Amino acid sequence: MESDNFIEDIIVKDLQTKKITIVNTRFPPEPNGYLHIGHAKSISINFGIKEKFLGKCNLRFDDTNPTKEDLEYVNSIKKDIQWLGYKWDHELYASDYFQKTYEAAIILIKKGLAYVCDLSAEEIRKTRGTLNEPGIESPYRTRTIETNLELFTKMKNGEFPDGSRVLRAKIDMASPNINMRDPVIYRILRATHHRTGDDWLIYPMYDFAHPIGDAIENITHSICTLEFENHRPLYDWVTANCDFKKPYPQQIEFARLNMKNTVMSKRYLKKLVDDGFVKGWDDPRMPTLSGLRERGYPPEAIREFCARIGVGKANSEVDPELLDFCVREHLNKYADRAMAIENPLKVVIENIDNNQTFECIIDNNPNDPKAGKHNIVLRREIYIDNSDFSLSPPPKYHRLFEGSTVRLKGSFVLQHVKTCMTPDSTKIDHIVCRYLPDTQPGGINSGMKVKGVIQWVSIKDAIDTTLHKYEALLNDPKDGVLDFNERLNYNSIEIIDHAKVEPFALEGDTAKSFQFMRMAYYKRVKTNDGVCVFRRIVSLKDKFNAKN
Ligand code: ATP
Ligand code: MG
Repeated sequence: MESDNFIEDIIVKDLQTKKITIVNTRFPPEPNGYLHIGHAKSISINFGIKEKFLGKCNLRFDDTNPTKEDLEYVNSIKKDIQWLGYKWDHELYASDYFQKTYEAAIILIKKGLAYVCDLSAEEIRKTRGTLNEPGIESPYRTRTIETNLELFTKMKNGEFPDGSRVLRAKIDMASPNINMRDPVIYRILRATHHRTGDDWLIYPMYDFAHPIGDAIENITHSICTLEFENHRPLYDWVTANCDFKKPYPQQIEFARLNMKNTVMSKRYLKKLVDDGFVKGWDDPRMPTLSGLRERGYPPEAIREFCARIGVGKANSEVDPELLDFCVREHLNKYADRAMAIENPLKVVIENIDNNQTFECIIDNNPNDPKAGKHNIVLRREIYIDNSDFSLSPPPKYHRLFEGSTVRLKGSFVLQHVKTCMTPDSTKIDHIVCRYLPDTQPGGINSGMKVKGVIQWVSIKDAIDTTLHKYEALLNDPKDGVLDFNERLNYNSIEIIDHAKVEPFALEGDTAKSFQFMRMAYYKRVKTNDGVCVFRRIVSLKDKFNAKN
């Protein structure tokens, strides 16, 4: 089996040496927020390994922190993973193992490897030492096994107030690794858990619960981000001392995904939601998977993005342009083309009669003949975009100006005749043009050379619509200002409420994506009052030129 990265190198070796016979991974989100694009990297690694090595991947909710967790988050996480196209083998919860985790703590106490400590959180912090100095042993460290068993039972039974005592692993207060200096593994907390209710008054810490969950599920490779690298000795200590069967799960760390100008922490994303800066976790500007879905990012493009960024051990910042590139690449293959006008300018084609019509044919996707074609009707009065006509054209302006010609996409060549100003002469009211006969595709003069091709919509058929255009939620850090609050972009959405689209843009599935030719990719959504709005997914890199 070919390996694609250092994690797969380890797996291939473990299979070859027969250390393991099947690969088991897990994706372990804490249900305290919605998943973001960073999580997609972890999902693609863990589920990707399952698919490649025909192993298993569990979805395990790390729900050991009852005060921040919620069923809404659990459901959103499941929906997002499914949307990305992955299937977990078992849906599990760290809270499923509260009893087993408790029993593992008893095993440690009985081995003299854990003790109840009465120091306050502050005192524990103060006696932990520093990188240069060893910690100071707790006066409760020498309690007997019997006393510890009795006190731990009382902790469980609610005989002590919250925060008054903890259970600590008895490892080494002089360890060069601070995580090994008698870490706290259980705390007293009166909080209603979203699954176990009020059953438990003590909760395990993440560093204790995680290796236990992995060991119970026979996870072979427990893949996490680099911040956990110096927690690995503790991870190994827990699996080795709690009487689990070999082979023990192996923790492997990789570099998390960071993206330029992108909020990538649930805490800050939650703040954006709670402060009302965005409409919700699934606001189309959010880098959450639900936000990207609402925005119209195809899941295939997100998977492709994860494949392209690769898996490594060095932290770096990825340009969001790479994600947009993957989105564009996908939509270019699969999105139907349609014509839309952002800023309408009326054109009267003087040599078309009032009731005369011409049927024009547009390829739904020039890259895919199977995508079919659709019709659009040319009439005497049409809209073109304001930016496609200029009274004072800059050099190399290949669109319409006084006396010039331009091709209407899928139709005739149009020639400018005159420009009509509003009565107060401040702006253009409309322009008058004439079409050049037989220049339409298939016509005898279809080969006529013109420099530009523009989109258009007949006024009679045009449908009023609103466009939403988005920018990043965070501005570039200016003058070294990295503070989140100071970088918030208050202009992250632009609403254009006078746009026009051709009727084809209303056909098909409700949430269909289109390439609005020469504009951008847009996703159609219906608002609560039944009106269609188009959300800009990504811009178009390559605007088409006279060749199309
Ligand atoms: P956050 O900092 O956003 O709260 P987290 O790490 O606390 O994220 P978890 O729910 O614990 O969120 O994450 C589940 C899994 O996703 C973990 O294995 C974590 O390492 C991984 N993960 C989280 N953020 C990223 C990221 N930016 N890049 C890659 N993996 C990530
Ligand atoms: Mg976490």
